[in-house]
Amino acid sequence: MFIGGKWIDAENGHEFQSFNPASGETLGSLPAGEGADATKAVDAAALAFQEWSTQTAYQRSQFLYKAHSLMMADLERLATIMTEEQGKPLQAARNEVRYGADFLLWYAEEAKRVCGRTISSARADQRFLVLHQPVGVVGAITPWNYPISMITRKVAPALAAGCTIVLKPAEATPLCAKAVFEIFEKAAIPAGVVNLVTALDPGPVGEVFLKDVRVRKLTFTGSTQVGKMIARGAADQLKRISLELGGHAPFIVCSDADPVHAAKGLALVKFLNTGQACISPNRIFVHSNIVETFLKELTRKVAVMKSGSGFDPGVRIGPLVNDTALEKVDRQVQDAIKKGARLVSGGERLTENGLDKGCFYAPTILTHVDSGMTIYREETFGPVAPVIEYENEDDLLAMANDTHYGLASYVYTRDLKKAFRLFEGLHFGIIGINDINPTSAAAPFGGMKESGLGREGSSEGINEYLETKLVGLSV
Ligand code: NAD
Repeated sequence: MFIGGKWIDAENGHEFQSFNPASGETLGSLPAGEGADATKAVDAAALAFQEWSTQTAYQRSQFLYKAHSLMMADLERLATIMTEEQGKPLQAARNEVRYGADFLLWYAEEAKRVCGRTISSARADQRFLVLHQPVGVVGAITPWNYPISMITRKVAPALAAGCTIVLKPAEATPLCAKAVFEIFEKAAIPAGVVNLVTALDPGPVGEVFLKDVRVRKLTFTGSTQVGKMIARGAADQLKRISLELGGHAPFIVCSDADPVHAAKGLALVKFLNTGQACISPNRIFVHSNIVETFLKELTRKVAVMKSGSGFDPGVRIGPLVNDTALEKVDRQVQDAIKKGARLVSGGERLTENGLDKGCFYAPTILTHVDSGMTIYREETFGPVAPVIEYENEDDLLAMANDTHYGLASYVYTRDLKKAFRLFEGLHFGIIGINDINPTSAAAPFGGMKESGLGREGSSEGINEYLETKLVGLSV
């Protein structure tokens, strides 16, 4: 753990292990932190806040610039650790490190653009001034699926705003977190400004974040279920919260779209990170006029997708995170088949050629999926493409919006009017129109409804770490 600028063990002396999900091999041991360690980290962050919050934005941004260049220089090592510990193919891991580093660069610059304003008053002798100040100590909790970029997406804006932070990474990917904090250490970020508490049981650390009054802000990325629990807990002290939660993205292919182009796009975005992405398409609506060509191309693409270790050349599909994930994916597929879905490809665990040592599930295509199936409602987080054929475009919006999630959605159309109607009518925070990658450090990322609260990235991202203060002045 990294607390107050020092690498230390857990107070209880306990450790837990990190595993390679492709092979089951042990990668390393880490301190199994608990509440006492989290409190120690909050002590360090509260102390460091006094100095850090009074540095100029120009001073703070220098540390972020430094961390960015160190991260880019260390790209290959970081990507290797990620492929080992999280399982995604090495090239995808490299892309994630670049994306993660981008947040450091973006917020190094954005730090200097936190501006207040003056407001006219109805009284001639009165002036209003608005200024923004850092919220205080931040408690951050991150997931395993994007184990590096989800850290920098929180740490960079928090530091830019003048906050200090205590981060608890996912128990499945602590080595990735450790590697990121080694970069922060090398960048000479002052002691206590960034703190890392690794834990096998997240509960006690989460409790400290919720109960300690010095933690003024909680930022969480993970499941909707845990996010809601955090929101309830934070209500006691009315702590500020940002929640980036689950999704159930519709992927709409309109009758006028190019079905081959759309199928290529779907094959790329659906199987990215083995479907373990919050923005992964979960319901693929394809117009009946073009569904045959779409499925033909999709099946062709899926047939050549190689599963295996992310280090093997040509591998597109890495392992799922653990057995529980594997069972959940298979349960959804079997439920759909039992209720009338047709299996076009996949639909089973992969065990040949040594894949039985990891948690591999074949890339799967289902057709004839309907709203009575679990997969239509529940986030899959696996390599399954459920296709739903539709005929009437008037029903599209209602069908796509029929979910309690509201994170990402995708539309393929060549009709500008349709694109605008769907863009304006979809209840989702992120919409890709003929675009499967609507994400960037410069763009606001986040969801509506039960997909979360607040935004990360862009100028919105730094506002999450700022208080607004009004001064009324009689002159
Ligand atoms: P998860 O909610 O189980 O875990 C996420 C984090 O919360 C981990 O660090 C975990 O240790 C911690 N956690 C779990 N229980 C806790 C508790 N009681 N108190 C405090 N912390 C606790 O989710 P996951 O399975 O790791 O991640 C997958 C989920 O994350 C999916 O639903 C996915 O859609 C979502 N996700 C969302 C985004 C986004 O930006 N919206 C990005 C990535 C992942």
